[in-house]
This record gives sequence, C-alpha cells and structure tokens, in this order.
Amino acid sequence: MKKIVVALAGNPNSGKSSIFNMLTGAHQHVGNYPGVTVEKKEGLCRHGDYEITFVDLPGTYSLSAYSTEELVARNFIIDQRPDVVVDIIDSSNIERNLYLATQLIELNVPLVLAFNMSDIAEQRGLSFDIEQLSKLLQAPIVHTIGNKAKGKTELLEAIRRIVEQRRQRHPHIVHYGEEIEEEIERIEPLIAEHEPELAEKYGTRWLALKMIEQDSDVVEKVHSRDVRHAAEVSAEHLKKIFGDEPEIVIADRRYGFISGACQETIKSTVESRHSASDMIDAIVTNRILGLPIFLLLMYIVFFLTFRIGKYPMGWLETLFGWAGATITGFWPAGSESAIKSLLVDGVIGGVGGVIVFLPNILLLFAAIALLEDSGYMARAAFIMDRIMHKIGLHGKSFIPMLIGFGCSVPAIMATRILENRRSRFTTIMVIPLFSCGARLTIYMLIIPAFFADNVLLRAGIFTIRTQALMLWLIYLIGIVLAVVCAKVLRLTLFRGETTPFVMELPPYRMPTGKSICIHMWQRGWMYLRKAGTIILGISLILWLAMSFPKPPAESLRDLDAGQSRQAALKYSVVGRVGSAMEPAIKPLGFDWKIGTALLGAMAAKEVFVSQLGIVYAVEDMEKGSHSLRRQLQADYSALQGFCIMLFCLISAPCVATIAMTRQETNSWPWAIFQFVALTALAYVITLAVFQIGTAIIA
Ligand code: GDP
Ligand code: MG
Repeated sequence: MKKIVVALAGNPNSGKSSIFNMLTGAHQHVGNYPGVTVEKKEGLCRHGDYEITFVDLPGTYSLSAYSTEELVARNFIIDQRPDVVVDIIDSSNIERNLYLATQLIELNVPLVLAFNMSDIAEQRGLSFDIEQLSKLLQAPIVHTIGNKAKGKTELLEAIRRIVEQRRQRHPHIVHYGEEIEEEIERIEPLIAEHEPELAEKYGTRWLALKMIEQDSDVVEKVHSRDVRHAAEVSAEHLKKIFGDEPEIVIADRRYGFISGACQETIKSTVESRHSASDMIDAIVTNRILGLPIFLLLMYIVFFLTFRIGKYPMGWLETLFGWAGATITGFWPAGSESAIKSLLVDGVIGGVGGVIVFLPNILLLFAAIALLEDSGYMARAAFIMDRIMHKIGLHGKSFIPMLIGFGCSVPAIMATRILENRRSRFTTIMVIPLFSCGARLTIYMLIIPAFFADNVLLRAGIFTIRTQALMLWLIYLIGIVLAVVCAKVLRLTLFRGETTPFVMELPPYRMPTGKSICIHMWQRGWMYLRKAGTIILGISLILWLAMSFPKPPAESLRDLDAGQSRQAALKYSVVGRVGSAMEPAIKPLGFDWKIGTALLGAMAAKEVFVSQLGIVYAVEDMEKGSHSLRRQLQADYSALQGFCIMLFCLISAPCVATIAMTRQETNSWPWAIFQFVALTALAYVITLAVFQIGTAIIA
C-alpha cells in the first residue's frame, strides 16, 4: 500500500466540501492548522494500491498573502508538498475559478483540475474543448458533480496517473508582457545566487514574481538585501510605467490569459439570459425588501432553534432530572453525603446543563447549513455588509451576533463562517455582550422586584410600560457596548483592512440532506466533546468551591433547611470569596450576597438566581421567587437592582463561553483576555452608574 497526500484547493462554494465528502465518506477528521484557527479537514480513501489522505484546504480565490486562509492554503502546498493538488473548479463560472488554477500552475505543483458543477455548466449550455484546455493549462481535467457523487473514479484515476507519471511541466504559462518579464529575468539570477534554499523550494520565477508583487509573506522570507533592493527598484519602475501597482497589472495579465484560453475552448450554445438565480436576487437583495426578508428568515431560524428545540430540550431535562432523582434515591432521605451531592449537583447538574442545549445547537447549525448551502448566506452578508462595515466588520458577523441573543456558545461556533481572522476574533470578543437567554432569567427576577409596571406612554393600541422598557434598555445597552467595543478592537488590537470582499453572489442551489447532516454532526460532536471535558472540569471545580469546607454540624442545629443551606454556602470557599470581595464591589452597590451569587453565575448565568435563593435562605425556589423579590426590595434600592442587571450583562462570560472562545481562537490568552476585559468593563461602567446615580438621587 502506497501512502500519498492529496490537497483539495478551490474557490469558496466551488463544491470542495462535497467532493471531499464524496471521496472520503465518513472517514474524516476535523482539526485546526497549527497556530491558526483555520479549520483543517482530513479524510482517507483507498484506490488501487494507494491509501490517499485528502486534505480539504480553506476555500480561496487566490494565493496572495492577504488572508490567513490564503496563506494557510499556500503554505500547506509549499511546505507539505502534497503529492497532488486537486483544484475544484466551478465550471459554470469558469473564468473566475481559473484564477486560482493559474497560480497553482505557477507554483509548479502536480495538479488535477476537477471541473465541478458540470451539471449546471451543461444547463447553461456551456461546452468545453477539454483536450485543448487541458493542453493550455498543462493539467488533466475531470468532470465531476460533487453533490451527486459523479466522477469519483475518474478523479481518482487522474490522481493516480499524475503520481505515476511525475511529468515535468512548464510553470511559465502566463506571459506577463515585456516590461514585467524583463524585471523577472533581472531578479531571478539574484535569487538563485543569494537565496539558494528558497529558490530550491519555491522556484526562482515564482519568487521573483512575488517579490515584484511585494507579497508580504515572501518579502519577509527573503533576507538578502540585494534581492529586496532589486525587487523594490523593479516595483517602483513598473509602477511608473503602468501608473498602477504591479500587483494589479500582474492580476490583469492572469485574467487576460484565462480569458484568452476560455475564448478558444469554451462555447456557449445558449444565449445568455436571465437565470432563475437572477430573478430571486432581484427580490431578496432589493434595496427595500432585502432587509425585511432577511429579518424574517432570521426570525424563522430562531423560531426553529429555540421553539422547536424546546421539546427535545424538555425531554433531556426530564431525563437528567430523572437520573438525579434516581441517584438521590440511593441515599436515605435528607442525607448530606458529599458523593451524592458530587454526582447530582456536580456531574449531572454541570454536564446536564450543557447537554440540554444540544438539540438547539443541532437545529441551529442545520438552519445555518441550509442557508449557506443554498447560497442565501452570501446575500445576507451582502445586505448587512454596508451597515456592518461602519464598525469595521463583515456583513456575515451579523449572524453570530444574532445567535448570541440565544446563547453565546453556538454564536461563537458560528463565527466559523467568517473568513477573515480579524473580523472573526473581534466578533468572538463582543458576542457575550449580546444578552443571552440565561441572563433573561436574572432580569425576570430583578425587574419586577424594583420597577412597578406603570404605563409610561400610550398611543392608540401602542403602550410603553416601565418593565418592558427596562428590559429593552438592558438589551440595548449590550448592543451599543458591543458596537463600540467592536469598533475599538478593530482600531487597536485587530487593526487592518477587511479583506476586499468580492461581492460575487453564487447561484442558488438545492442543498443536499447529506451535506446538512455532516455539518450538523460535526458541530454537535464538537460541542459534546467540550461538555465532556473542559465544561465538566470547571463545573466540578465550582461545585467543590461551593460545597467545601463544610460548616461544623453543631452550628447547623436549630436551623431549618433553607437557613442551613445558607450557612453552608457562607462557610464554603465561594461564600468566603464572596465575602472577601465585598470591599471591592461595595462601590458598585453590591454586598457579599450579590458577590457570592455572581461567582455562581460564572458556571451559568441563570445560576445567579438560584444562588441568590440560597444566600437568602429561600426554602423552595420554585415557589420562592416572590419571597426572594420581597427580600431584595428590603435590602436594595432600584438603582442597585439596575446595577446588578448591568453587571450581569457585561461581566465575565460563563465557563462554557470561555471554553468555546478558547477552542475557537485556539488560545488561552485570548479567552482570558475576553474574561478580564469584559469584567473590567462591567466594573467601570457599573461603578460609574452607581456613583453618578447615587449622587443625583442624593
Ligand atoms: P465548498 O464551499 O467549496 O466547500 O462547497 P460545498 O461543497 O459546500 O458546495 C456548495 C454547494 O454546491 C452545496 O449546496 C452543494 O450541494 C452544491 N454542489 C456541489 N457540487 C455540485 C455540483 O457538481 N452540482 C451542483 N448542482 N451542485 C453542487
Ligand atoms: Mg466547504
């Protein structure tokens, strides 16, 4: 058995994932490229005596050094030297897709071109002179239909032949015109002389071209002063001649080559006409209708996720409740066994609390996969892009942000749809500011406790009431803060251009059930793995800190159940830390009770409410929210109540969010940064509100 590695390259939406699935079936492994957060998918396939490892490279339009994805793809090809690169080409949109192909040819890699979407190309009446085109591009061409698994054997055969032939090609396919070619010829020998290692690895022509383009990654790799200087002179010289960046002229020449090659070899038998896609686009990207349609679709996605998800979530809750009760039943009633508490409150409580969200996550990602695969996501980004650009983000960032109103965890996972690392990290950092469903339980406790539901304004059937207004205000504060923070991050830590966003709208397609299932399964599994490891670990630590040390038994005598739970919590590490925190949070209007509840809220935001129930010795939380509200009213002012909500909104995201940030940024420092920065922000803002508020009221 001979082992070979084959990389799949191609434009986004060219059908790469479909081909990858067709080739590797279920034998897939998802990870990250080392050091970056770009998803790396690998899969295995047997063909003849070959065991082929397929690597699904990130989708890119080009191989420049502008985005992480392009660099990852390029460096994988150059550094890992896959035995064959298969370029997946959307053959219904051939000219644009061949741009990447010309760059691969110039890199002189063993190449196979898969003309995918050949069903659509045929529908459009395109016919290819494959023999001629294959000669021009110096690579074998295979027709495939990714979503119907057609062309698999042909593709594998082409790969095998390329591996066995090892035929030398001419990477010199595009002629860049006298002026540029002259400069290339001037720089090539310098590279050969001063940078022999690089020359061996990349080829002198490619390096010279990249130096003239002033490609940041290559310029960094070249240390020789002579080469750098010569390239700068050349670039300056060419800029004078063309009055434009050499990079742009070079890109134009590539397109010129492609356009020529296509004119010779492709015939269209059908007059170009308005396709169904154009007609749908006229409606959904319409200036007036676009936004309402988008919002409606998003509403439907939420409806699906949180309404339909409620039922399986209920079943899971019942299941975990039953498991807890069953385990409790092993001990005599009223037992204070630590093992019982560990199993019931720590393990089942912690992991159960996470797993119950699984149906939501699966539904949400199914909906997103549906929107993505059908081609609508590109339109959504198109519609939101102008607004989002104002805060330095991409239109697509809007989708994770919306999901954040449900739960930050899937929202952070959904940032994978963002291709640019800087926009992606910025979005991840601000997602916790979109007030999630768990925080709603806190507002539901606090608002009725401190704000009477007066009618503030009445206009016909439309009335504004105090409580609704408070709720709206809290959400709005979160959104405004998110916008401000995103803008600040984009101007500081994540500064840099948003990658020029090609507003190409791929044609609409019928999504396949298989591709949606694969998406759903991969995300769901990732989420479960998290629940099983980090989240379980942290929940256990929190449980330990809330349960130990135990107060001496005699101190609990004469207390009722509620009071003894209160005493136990106050005696525990969390209770002590909460008390110790008091001086620090006093300026915010908080006391040790709030401090203790805030610590519990780190496990999950809604724990704030149950924790407060314990510190106030409310016996039965189910029926106790009234009495808890009355006690809160007695202890705090409305201003303090508002500050509690404000702090819970902005401060430390819950452990599940932190764990997800860690996974998606692939870095603890960023996860800790998010935690610390948001908590500091919450502190400063709450401090200001409480102090200024107190001063005004006094
Ligand atoms: P990727 O972005 O390159 O990974 O593309 P995907 O594999 O996700 O494919 C994008 C969409 O095109 C999906 O809805 C696929 O089902 C669909 N698709 C893939 N290959 C073909 C094909 O050959 N013909 C048609 N009609 N659709 C395809
Ligand atoms: Mg894909």
